[in-house]
Amino acid sequence: QPDREILTWDGFGGAARELAAQIVNSGWMPDLIVAVARGGLLPAGALSYAMGLKAIGTMNVEFYTDIAETLPEPVLLPPLMDVSELNDKNVLVVDDVADSGKTLKMVMDLINQDGLSLDGKSTITVDARSCVIYEKSRSIIKPDYVWAKTDKWINFPWSTLPVIKPDQA
Ligand code: 5GP
Repeated sequence: QPDREILTWDGFGGAARELAAQIVNSGWMPDLIVAVARGGLLPAGALSYAMGLKAIGTMNVEFYTDIAETLPEPVLLPPLMDVSELNDKNVLVVDDVADSGKTLKMVMDLINQDGLSLDGKSTITVDARSCVIYEKSRSIIKPDYVWAKTDKWINFPWSTLPVIKPDQA
């Protein structure tokens, strides 16, 4: 697979440590992490341990159904996060890759609106920053923290092997 970017489990471990150092050294500390499920779940978990940060939530977004096969737009799936929980917080949004960038942009737009009002009365303020392992050049959003850039299709260690089915009797 010469046209692929292969991230191994070892490579992922190193990437997570390097991203954590990048964030900590930027002078900004998140109060909580939001993982963009499912691709951001393992990166977010690794970052939460590397940064000693226990507060973590998820937003479940579906966009790609297969390699190079997408839905028209990213779709938010249940269970939904209560965005009012993010009020006055520094929030680190973590995903595996900003490819088209549509997924990350959707999540950032959902939570990073100054003066966002959920009930028409009170407003909530969130300082959200984004973090990905990979950024592609076509991404419509520029993530705040990036480990590496590529324009190849990436094989992530958690989604490369086939789904395990019960052994045949
Ligand atoms: P985007 O909205 O930026 O186009 O990408 C949404 C999601 O599609 C990513 O979070 C990721 O889970 C999946 N995706 C996009 N590009 C790649 C890729 O090169 N390799 C893999 N394995 N998944 C990708």
